[in-house]
Order: sequence, then structure tokens, then C-alpha cells
Amino acid sequence: MAGKEKAVMKVLDTETAQGFIRMSEDGWHQGWHECHGGNLTYRMKKREADNLREDFRKDAPWLTLPVRLKSIAGEFFMVTGSGKFMRNMALDPADSFGIIELNEEGSAYRIVWGLENMGKPTSELPAHLMNQEVKKLVTEGRHRVVYHAHPANIIALSFLLPLRDEIFTRELWEIMPECAMTFPGGIGVLPWMIPGTKEIAQRSCELMKEYDVVVWAQHGLFVSGDSFDHAFGLMHTVEKAADIYLKTISVPGRERLIPSAQELREMATRFRLKLPEKFLYNKDCI
Ligand SMILES: [Zn+2]
Repeated sequence: MAGKEKAVMKVLDTETAQGFIRMSEDGWHQGWHECHGGNLTYRMKKREADNLREDFRKDAPWLTLPVRLKSIAGEFFMVTGSGKFMRNMALDPADSFGIIELNEEGSAYRIVWGLENMGKPTSELPAHLMNQEVKKLVTEGRHRVVYHAHPANIIALSFLLPLRDEIFTRELWEIMPECAMTFPGGIGVLPWMIPGTKEIAQRSCELMKEYDVVVWAQHGLFVSGDSFDHAFGLMHTVEKAADIYLKTISVPGRERLIPSAQELREMATRFRLKLPEKFLYNKDCI
């Protein structure tokens, strides 16, 4: 086997690469990744990168980032490619995603593996890396996965509900109370913004200091997690609750029997959850 082929196989044989591919494929099967929609990054553990380092390209050019990310400087990330299709991830992984290295200043990156055929990282790379940095800091290094997808029901809901954290959180908790166990901290909401810009990245970072999930109104969902399972599960839960919400409001002439704020508080006590009171407001007063 040629050296390059061996290097490709070595990366793809790792549990992390397999998890990255599986998550992309699962998102495709959920219908969240039409065309080249959605993107995924994973901040590699030091030992994961060290195990592969001898197979990485050493001569790739450094490309300047629009921001300086000191807290993740020198780290390695698995990243999906710009214009690539999640649908093709398992069929042609070395073309569909790659590994990038950040320089010691956190001001530039280079592609050390994958993204073959002149591929580039996702156009949302600034949003991913800036949020990777924020989540690394606020979770003391636990969070490693940042995922963006286009689930239809939560997007539909962002055309219907007022774009406020309190309202999205409360409505989703009420319609599927176990949501309060999956995202007890609530859910952030951004208005529609131009994708791929530093502005959407910065506004997401502000919200991701508090939340693990942010709605990009009329566009999609942005989540972070400590593992592929948790990040995927969070995306899946929010989307399922939005689906149930839309189903229930689509039935004419029937009152929805939703749990009260007090019932949510009692559930929180039972499961030792800390639900912020700002989401348990008195709905009769608004
Ligand atoms: Zn998108």
C-alpha cells in the first residue's frame, strides 16, 4: 500500500474518524443535510492527534483566520469541507472532511489530512472555531463537538414563534418535558443573519457562553457537546420537540393540555435539575 493510502486508512480506522463519519451520515438520514447544508467540527484530544502526527502533511500552506483564537492555538480539528455533501461522507471520507492544525498564535490554520482534490474547510469555519474556543473555556475543556444542521421543524418554528430564548425554551419544554433534562440550561435564539460571516459567529459565541444549543432563525440549529452522541442527541431532541409542537398546533379546535410551570418545577426537583426561573414565567401575564 502506498504511503498516502496508508495515511488515509490510519486516520479512517480511528474511533474518532468513525464517530465523525457516523454522525454526518446519521444527520443525512434524518434529512438535515440537503445539498451541501450543515457542517461539523471535532476538537481532537492531544493523544489522538499525536498518534496520527507522523502521517500528517508537513508542507501545507498556512491560511490566515479572520480572528485570533489563543485558547485553542496549536490544536487539531476534524472539519467537514466547504461544498461537500454529508450524503457522501461515508462513501468518500477523505474528500468530504479533513484535519486542520491551528498555528501557535491561533491566527492561521493548515490542512494536514483529507479534503483531497483541493477541498477547503466549511464556510462556517470561523463560527465553528470561535465557538469551539468559547465552549472549551466555559466547559473547562469538556466540549469538543460543534454541529450545525438544517432540521425542518425547528426552522419552521422560527417562522412562527417570537424569536426569544425564553419563548423557544418554554414552548419546547412544555411540549416534550424531557427536553428539560436534555437542555436544562435552555435554548438561545438568533434572528436571521447572513451565513458564514464573522457576525453570526460572534453572536453565536455570546449565546453559547450560556447555552449548548442556538436556533439560527429561518436557517437551522447550532449545537455543541462533549461527544458525538450528546451533540447529535441534542440536535435530535430539539427537532423532535419542534415536530410535536407543529403537529399539535395543526389540529384545529382542540385545546393543548400542556404542563404548567409548577409541574415543570416539580419534575426538576424530582430529577435534581436546575431550571432557570426566567423560563418558567407566568404565561397569563404575557
Ligand atoms: Zn446552514
